[in-house]
Order: sequence, then structure tokens, then C-alpha cells
Amino acid sequence: MTWDFETDPEFQAKLDWADAFVRDEVEPLDMLWGGLEYTPLDGALRRIVEPLKQQVRAQKLWAAHLGPELGGEGYGQLKLALLNEILGRSSWAPIVFGTQAPDTGNAEIIAHYGTPEQKARYLRPLLDGEIFSCYSMTEPHAGADPTMFRTRAELDGDEWVLDGWKFFSSNANTASFFIVMAVTDPDVSAYRGMSMFLVPADTPGINIVRNLAVGTESADHGSHALIHYDGVRLPTDAVLGGAGQAFAIAQTRLGGGRIHHAMRTIGLAQRAFDMMCERALSRETQGSLLADKQFVQGYIADSYAQLMQFRLFVLYTAWTIDKHQDYRRVRKDISAIKALLPGVLQDIVQRAMQVHGALGVSNEMPFTRMWVTGASLALADGPTEVHKVTVARQVLREHRPSDDGWPTGHLPKKVAAAREKFAAELELEVGNL
Ligand SMILES: Cc1cc2nc3c(=O)[nH]c(=O)nc-3n(C[C@H](O)[C@H](O)[C@H](O)COP(=O)(O)OP(=O)(O)OC[C@H]3O[C@@H](n4cnc5c(N)ncnc54)[C@H](O)[C@@H]3O)c2cc1C
Repeated sequence: MTWDFETDPEFQAKLDWADAFVRDEVEPLDMLWGGLEYTPLDGALRRIVEPLKQQVRAQKLWAAHLGPELGGEGYGQLKLALLNEILGRSSWAPIVFGTQAPDTGNAEIIAHYGTPEQKARYLRPLLDGEIFSCYSMTEPHAGADPTMFRTRAELDGDEWVLDGWKFFSSNANTASFFIVMAVTDPDVSAYRGMSMFLVPADTPGINIVRNLAVGTESADHGSHALIHYDGVRLPTDAVLGGAGQAFAIAQTRLGGGRIHHAMRTIGLAQRAFDMMCERALSRETQGSLLADKQFVQGYIADSYAQLMQFRLFVLYTAWTIDKHQDYRRVRKDISAIKALLPGVLQDIVQRAMQVHGALGVSNEMPFTRMWVTGASLALADGPTEVHKVTVARQVLREHRPSDDGWPTGHLPKKVAAAREKFAAELELEVGNL
């Protein structure tokens, strides 16, 4: 019997350290420098953040998503999940621990598909937390269906020339390089005719037209770029993983990224839940505490059960990835938790907001931002609907149609089968009457 819900004491000690460290040292950064997480460190911020990163390294918790071949500890996804649910409480924590999206996914594909030169140029500084990267795939006219993308790269002598528009390319304004998906062969299916390019941010022809903000973020802090790639010239070795490989690369990248979002969401939802419970125990109305009102008790019970179910599903999926060492074999469950994630977060945040009354919707509490995070995660790395389609397709592969048009569970059919199975005994019984 190998099922076990215990964390080994050695790693639990690390989690306890991370828990206190995030609360005491990192969450204060969110208060003063929220929105600057992806800005290269400089001045006062470098003096504050660099020593924090050193403490994380000393605890052997830096870039905990990485295997030993890339300088990580090789903890695997389950331990990473336990850590990420702590980091999910704070917007700065993933940066301080070297596990922030989209850089983790970008690093993963360069590690997997990059040449030694590409790894030296892009991967090393990315893993050291010295630079940021941008994944530029969605286009203004199409997102969920990459076969509709139009951005084009054509060979001109010994250079690729990149032309087109990309939308919602996060952190383009602070990234040192972009990973851009473009059509390289329009005559074959999109699954074989698109390629990924590694593009240094200072390459002429990259025009960031504007940066969009989400929800209540101020326009100055918008970090999702509309980009015009206008005749961007790239050497032939800018292609990642070979021409025509973009779809395979995108799948590798998004598998890990999606479950990491889910791990962090547990922490964020837990934070909203804890705030709801504190408020329920602190606020009185009509002669009793909110905690004594059945409606509020219902909010707490529903939220607890929803979060517990979600957490167990995420941990189970992380455990399965560790077991198979292959995201593709766990695709159904990764899509299922990606589809569940926004609803779990938004339901719990909504209830917590409600229990806080007017204060809850104000800019003096973090709930509206948390709620928008839920809405954003219903789109980033693929809309919920598309993930549900994936789940349904994968589930249906494990089933088959009935042989004769009548449901296998149709009772007359089952009774007939049971009669046949016990025919001899039934005959004997009738004969004895
Ligand atoms: C915060 C945030 C960060 C992002 N960062 C990046 C980034 O760094 N790089 C990048 O390239 N992109 C990024 N994106 C874009 C994201 O990948 C897209 O929003 C997503 O793929 C959906 O594309 P779309 O927005 O064009 O919506 P559309 O493709 O137009 O879809 C709109 C809606 O149509 C419905 N729909 C779509 N397809 C189906 C279907 N098959 N079945 C049923 N309904 C469907 C869904 O309701 C969906 O939400 C980010 C998005 C957000 C919100």
C-alpha cells in the first residue's frame, strides 16, 4: 500500500521556512512594488531582492521546477506543488524563488529544444533570474486556434524575415528576448508549417504598439503587448527546435505552465478563504457574529470543500506527472484542473468579498485583483472551453459505443444476461417447485 499524504520531514522543514519567509520578507514587496515584478532589478530594489534570492538559494529552493541537469534540485512536480501553493499567495514570491511564468515554460522549451549556443545565450541568464522573456504567440484576430495565425517568416538569402502582429505578449516591455511563433511554410498543414524563433528584444523592426493592462491595473502598469513585427531580420540559427516544430514545442511548454498556474492558485484561493474566515469571526450584525449565520457557514463549508477537492486533484496530477515523467500522458488531468481553476478561485474570492461587505469590493482589499486573476487564468494558456473539449475527447477515448444500439446499462438487457448466467440454477429452482 503506497498511498500517502505525508510530506517527508526534511522537505516539510523547507516548506515551513518558505511559509514564514514569504509572509515576513516577500509579501511586503507586493505592497510597495506590486506591478514591478518583471522589471530588471536595479537600485534599491536590487539591494532588497538580491539578498532574498540568495537566502532562497541557500535553502536549495531556487528554481525548484528544474531538474539537476539544469542546476535545480530535481524535486519533481509534487514537491513543487507544495512549494508553489505557498508562493501563489504573493505576486513577488515566484520571482524571488525563480519560478515565475512565463519564464519557467520558456526556459523549459529552450532546455528541451535549444542548441548549445541558444542555451548559453538565453537559458543560462534566464535560469539565473537575471533576465526576463516573452512568449509571443496570440494574434489580434486569433488566439485559441493557432492554425489561424498569420505572422509569417520567410527566408531571404541566409536570413529569416519576420512580419506580422502579435497580441497580449506578456512582459514584452521588459523581456530581453521573445519566442515568436510564425508560419514558415503556408503550403503544408499548420501543424507542420509553423516555427518558433528566438528573437533578441533589441532586434530592429520590433514595434511595441501599446501595452494593455488587465482589470484594475493602472494603464501605466500594462504589460501585455500588441506588437508589430515589421521586417525583423533574423539569422537562420534563430529557429528553435528546427523549422516546422512550433506545435510540438508549444505543447511541451504549456503542459508544465498550466499545472504551475493551478498550484499557485491553491495558495491564492487559500488566502481569500483565510480572510473570509477571519472576517466571519470578527464582524457582528443583528446580535451575532457572521460566523454564526447559516448563510456564511454555507460559504465557508462550500469554499473549504471546493478548495480541498481542487488541491487534491492538483497534487494527484503532480504525482502522476512524476510517475510517468511525461506531460502528454497526463494531458486529460492537466486540462481538467486548468478548466476548474478559474471557477474555484472566483467562487471563493466572490464569497470572501461578499462577507467583507463594501470594504470587500473596495481598492483597500485585494479581492477584485484576485477575481481578475481568475478571469485571466480562464484565458491565459488556453480558454476553459478548449480545455474541457480536451478532457472530453481524452475521456471518450477510454470508452466505446454499445454493440447493439441499446445502452449496456439498459436493465432488460442486464436482466437477460443475468438470467443466462444463472440459467442452470434458475431451471433447477423452477424444477423443484
Ligand atoms: C493575462 C493574460 C496573459 C496572456 N499572456 C500571453 C502571452 O504571454 N503570450 C501569448 O501569446 N498569449 C497570451 N495570452 C493570450 C491567451 O493565450 C489567449 O487569450 C487565449 O489563447 C485565447 O485567445 P483569444 O483571447 O484570442 O480568444 P479567442 O480565441 O477569440 O476565444 C474567445 C472565446 O471564444 C470561446 N472559444 C474559443 N475557442 C473555443 C472552442 N474551441 N470551443 C468553445 N468555445 C471556444 C471561449 O469562450 C474563448 O474565451 C494571455 C492572456 C491573458 C488573459
